[in-house]
Amino acid sequence: GYTSELPALTPEFWRDLIHPDDLDLLLASREESLAGKADTYVYRVYVKGELVWVEERREPIVDETKRVTGYRSMFKNITRLHEQQEKITELRTVDPVTGVANRETLTEHVHTLLTNHTPVTMIGVSFNHHKEVSQTLGFEFADEWRAVTTAALQQLIPDQAMLALIGEDLNAIVIPSAWTDEEARQFGKRVTELAEQPFVIGNYEIFTTISVGVCRSPRDGKTANDLIKHTVHVTNYAFAQGAPYVELYSSKVDIPSLRRYELINDLRTAIKQREFYVVYQPKVDAWSGEIIGAEALMRWTHPRWGAVSPAEFIPLIEHNNQYVELTDFLISEVCSFLKRMAADIPISINVPVQYFYRDDYLAVLRQSIEANGLTPSLLEIEIPESTLLDNRPRMKQVFDELNAYGVRISFDDFGKGYSSLAYVQDYNVQTIKIDRVFAHGIHQNTKSQAIVRSLMFIAKEFTMHVVVEGVECFRDLAWLRDHGVTTIQGFLFSRPVSNHAFLALTEQKFLHPTEVLPVERQTELIPAHMSFSKIKTLTINLGQAPVLVAIRASGLVALYTKLYLPPDDFLRFTLALPPNQVSVAVTITNRVELANGLYCYDAVHQDETSVQQARDDTRRRFPNQTWDVARDWF
Ligand code: C2E
Ligand code: CA
Ligand code: CA
Repeated sequence: GYTSELPALTPEFWRDLIHPDDLDLLLASREESLAGKADTYVYRVYVKGELVWVEERREPIVDETKRVTGYRSMFKNITRLHEQQEKITELRTVDPVTGVANRETLTEHVHTLLTNHTPVTMIGVSFNHHKEVSQTLGFEFADEWRAVTTAALQQLIPDQAMLALIGEDLNAIVIPSAWTDEEARQFGKRVTELAEQPFVIGNYEIFTTISVGVCRSPRDGKTANDLIKHTVHVTNYAFAQGAPYVELYSSKVDIPSLRRYELINDLRTAIKQREFYVVYQPKVDAWSGEIIGAEALMRWTHPRWGAVSPAEFIPLIEHNNQYVELTDFLISEVCSFLKRMAADIPISINVPVQYFYRDDYLAVLRQSIEANGLTPSLLEIEIPESTLLDNRPRMKQVFDELNAYGVRISFDDFGKGYSSLAYVQDYNVQTIKIDRVFAHGIHQNTKSQAIVRSLMFIAKEFTMHVVVEGVECFRDLAWLRDHGVTTIQGFLFSRPVSNHAFLALTEQKFLHPTEVLPVERQTELIPAHMSFSKIKTLTINLGQAPVLVAIRASGLVALYTKLYLPPDDFLRFTLALPPNQVSVAVTITNRVELANGLYCYDAVHQDETSVQQARDDTRRRFPNQTWDVARDWF
């Protein structure tokens, strides 16, 4: 914008062009140039009153004696580039809709506070209606909803606090001081009172409820990530209690909800990190014990909770593409395993109906089967009979396609759902798998007997094969044999085992039935509670969970509980025993999975007196009581 003829091109003229904040930088750069250094400088200048970002590439000019006599510079106007960079940095650190800090910025901020030994109080705030707003009014309204609710919250935050948005409808406030329970509750109450007025978006007035969860360092988490995770968790917990609600992390979080929260949270990365693997449970001939098939069952090794059953994690899957990814993985695993196996033993896989709603499912199956050079009939697909209702016409088509290709189909959990005879008529399936509730205790349950008898009859009429699963004891096996059941799957013959173990079993070919279950009904059990202070590296004050305690020997007890406790690390916790909730510290040394989602743990302790007192007290309160470990007390 200037010409070289301008008489005013003096050092003073240049100096006036430069943004005052960058003047020091340029004065320093002059020293560098005089010392003979070539470099690039970025700064701001005013060109005819307008601010411009420039990049100056500067080279010193030297004479024969190597003395610097001046310098030569080339300037580039980088204003647009610079603006874009700023925008990008901003997008990385703030939420674009509300302009408040995002999760990364919050994490960094909390990390800095903790590194400087500043106590942190983190308040999670959930404006519970985000989902409804987005579903009923659309995404744009949902954005607007976030903007107005965040703005309302902004009015309340104390000095020096940071407000962030860490989830679709979850704000977090970080206060750099240690609040007492009382302070936290009072602040939480003020926040929930925001809901007394409706929020206005366009022509809508929306009433909401607000839940608040509070976490404090170091008791509720020592790292930024732990604090954020626990804040999300306790806020969800508060939400589940029915808002408006303020909850403090330390006081209320129980183990099942912690587990559930962590499983949901970690599912997303679990697939990428290959935390899934497949185990195989043999199907055997009811009389000879010969292995004639297997069911592939997925397992998830969660970093904290160990092996998790799909019965637990499949219902937690929130996105359809996760079903698809998992099932793709399952198909390719099982097909390559089938190829490795010497014997032609068919393997069945569990596939959720949703998987078939996409168009290319057959192509994926075909690809895996053909790439491994398999006959399609070696693969069987188990589909729970009860889920078929969802999408009848589509599933009929799917069944026809699978049948034409030669993959076998089995109705899983038959008898448990709607069991419409129409299904058997409508869909062409080769096998029905009678649900394990019927096998369990069938030798003495006349209702189960009647149902299994009639299912067998129907299967025969339709020339379908029958598998009975969940067989655990000899007497049930005897009844089933006597009534013509030929294929059995159950713990009596084998639990699901690793692929290596399954290969070894197939070499041995036959399995012997063995009852491994401990006695089901027991006298002399003590109803108690267990509470934890530490799970692995995580220090927590969790709520209590019910447990039945049996005395095994001096210093040794057995604990019956529905809780799945993490493996490996020997786990320490306390038992609260009757009559006065005396705490006894115990360490778990062994775990056995019983039927029906129940676990039995061996644990050692050093307080024989309290344990015996608890037993004596129980005897007095419940004389002649026989406990059913599967049902009572939980
Ligand atoms: P399911 O298809 O009914 O599978 C049989 C379940 O019964 C398995 O539990 C197996 O370990 C258990 N079982 C077998 N024999 C006995 C027995 O004698 N007694 C008792 N109490 N249980 C027995 P698991 O592996 O925990 O699987 C639970 C459910 O999760 C399965 O029920 C199936 O619906 C689902 N599932 C398993 N693997 C997959 C998978 O790869 N994909 C999908 N989508 N679902 C799966
Ligand atoms: Ca199954
Ligand atoms: Ca089943």
